[in-house]
Amino acid sequence: MDIAENIAAIRKRIAGACDRAGRDPDSVRLMGVSKAHPAKQVREAIDAGLKLLGENKVQEAKLKIPECPGGAKWHFIGHLQTNKVKDAVRFFDMLQCVDSLHLAEEINKRAEQAARTLPVLLEVNVAGEASKFGYQPDQMLQELEALNDLPRLEIHGLMAIPPYVSNPEAARPYFRRLAELKRRCEDSFGTPLPELSMGMSGDFELAIEEGSTLVRVGTTIFGPRTFKSAQSKQET
Ligand SMILES: *Cc1c(COP(=O)(O)O)cnc(C)c1O
Repeated sequence: MDIAENIAAIRKRIAGACDRAGRDPDSVRLMGVSKAHPAKQVREAIDAGLKLLGENKVQEAKLKIPECPGGAKWHFIGHLQTNKVKDAVRFFDMLQCVDSLHLAEEINKRAEQAARTLPVLLEVNVAGEASKFGYQPDQMLQELEALNDLPRLEIHGLMAIPPYVSNPEAARPYFRRLAELKRRCEDSFGTPLPELSMGMSGDFELAIEEGSTLVRVGTTIFGPRTFKSAQSKQET
């Protein structure tokens, strides 16, 4: 497993997908999803030029982040419980997990106490799966104004984890749906939102074709995870 080689290969594939979609390759950021991988591997990735990392457990990230110097940014991409918000605000540069007004209010409160403003993404349950976290689209649209009124939150865009499908092409409609929802949010805010976080190891090229600005790649960079991290309610 050569992490630097893996990253270089993924960057090439990102450039290829951008080319096919007529997009600037600089318009897509690569996140390395380092959950369930040790700090040593993350440092290798940072040395290979990776600047953005994603973790889905606050406890795990708290231990790992201080062991990985080099100025990389860290995003939280899991389900955030309100009792973990205080630490999450301390350790992360962005929280890609806002799926209720209640959680947003807690982040707002803790960010204020920490004297900072926090970039967030709204997580959408694009397929309405009972097993997944994330806003139902209608609920999100209803709460947009209240979310936007929270002074310590900066809404940068949307994030989704579409249903697992064995044929990546089957995920395309979900990516489209998320892109369309982003446009509706932009209409409602009257300003563009920069971020659409979608696409993982199995489908990031398709996600780029559908407008992704941030792909979250774990397995293809770091290899199989030693234990299964929580992606759904059952596993948490
Ligand atoms: C684990 C995880 C990923 C990465 O998945 P891979 O298939 O290993 O690339 C991306 N996004 C989220 C939210 C995850 O939990």
